[in-house]
Amino acid sequence: MTTNLLDFDLEGLAAFCEQLGQKRFRATQLFRWIHQKGAADFEQMTDLAKALREKLSLFAHVQGLRVISRHDSSDGTIKWLFDVGAGDVIETVFIPEADRGTLCISSQAGCAVGCRFCSTGHQGFSRNLTTGEIISQLWFAEHFLRKHLGRDERIISNIVMMGMGEPLQNYAQLLPALKVMLDDHGYGLSRRRVTVSTSGVVPMMDRLARDCPVALAVSLHAPHDALRDNLVPLNKKYPIAELLDACIRYQSAAPRDFITFEYCMLHGVNDQPEHARQLVALMKAHAAAGLSCKFNLIPFNPFPASGLICSEMPQVMAFARVLIEAGIVTTVRKTRGDDIDAACGQLAGDVQDRTGVGQRMAAQRQGMLGGIKVVVVKGTTV
Ligand code: SAH
Ligand code: SF4
Repeated sequence: MTTNLLDFDLEGLAAFCEQLGQKRFRATQLFRWIHQKGAADFEQMTDLAKALREKLSLFAHVQGLRVISRHDSSDGTIKWLFDVGAGDVIETVFIPEADRGTLCISSQAGCAVGCRFCSTGHQGFSRNLTTGEIISQLWFAEHFLRKHLGRDERIISNIVMMGMGEPLQNYAQLLPALKVMLDDHGYGLSRRRVTVSTSGVVPMMDRLARDCPVALAVSLHAPHDALRDNLVPLNKKYPIAELLDACIRYQSAAPRDFITFEYCMLHGVNDQPEHARQLVALMKAHAAAGLSCKFNLIPFNPFPASGLICSEMPQVMAFARVLIEAGIVTTVRKTRGDDIDAACGQLAGDVQDRTGVGQRMAAQRQGMLGGIKVVVVKGTTV
């Protein structure tokens, strides 16, 4: 078995080239061919010496993931299912907007955290993705989209690690993948355009702050430990006070940045005005210590096994208003790709809903959200 060069960041590729008796700068050329031009065939890489190309074809390859299917939403969102072997399927979603193209990437097959409102969590954990499997999602999508849209320039401007899995429980494989995203010889994305979303793996938040302080989103979902313990089981290990302290430390490594708190709106569970007021108190208590935050309220995407339902839109807006009136920047996430099940928490791969209940609930929610135009509501920072 030869080495898959998608598994390396530029440092790793340079070390590999040195093992082949090559100067390190050859790695830069090779890296640019792979990531900037989407090349997988060494013969194409005409500015590399023929002897090197021959050597590479003996010891290395560039192999992306096998695409199982592609689903195109009427709103332009595209979802791919990729086969990662042994029956595991992961998903990647491209979300085009007027001023950006965002790719939502998976970091694990399944997830061990087991949040109650997440269908990936309900699937359980299968395995960590390799660096190559993480970066292949970007490599494939970027070069596919360029061909598909007939454009020569960069299409994907933002990355969110919000697909399947808990990225900070796969840190060793995640870090080189982030480096490829940021590398000027790779995708050249600024660290503010790459977001790692976490359910709160505190020690790894500290490591990320040191190694690669990209934008951070923290899935909070509750204003106090009793409720968060129930929704996000990892809270029992890293309770809210520890989590928020880690956020403050993170911000000292990434000054001038916000932490985005994600909050999935669950009818009758965490969506009451008193929950909003408790959140305000929590944030104010930490603002003095340097926490600056914004909130992203996510309408829950229902799936039958959860036994949960989405908050009604007036409830979501009332909740947002409490935060905004307290001076917290708050947005309500627009759901995209609803017709292809590409929304958060629906990235379930092999979890099948044969009952039709899921579709009915989605349709009901669609109707509920239909016509509501106010999506982004702004206040100022705490
Ligand atoms: N494991 C990481 C990243 C993947 S989940 C994390 O939890 O942050 C990405 C986001 O989708 C998280 O904020 C998560 O809470 C949210 N999410 C999961 N299931 C959802 C659902 N059914 N409806 C709405 N949002 C959901
Ligand atoms: Fe895992 Fe995130 Fe889903 Fe929780 S919300 S189960 S951490 S993927």
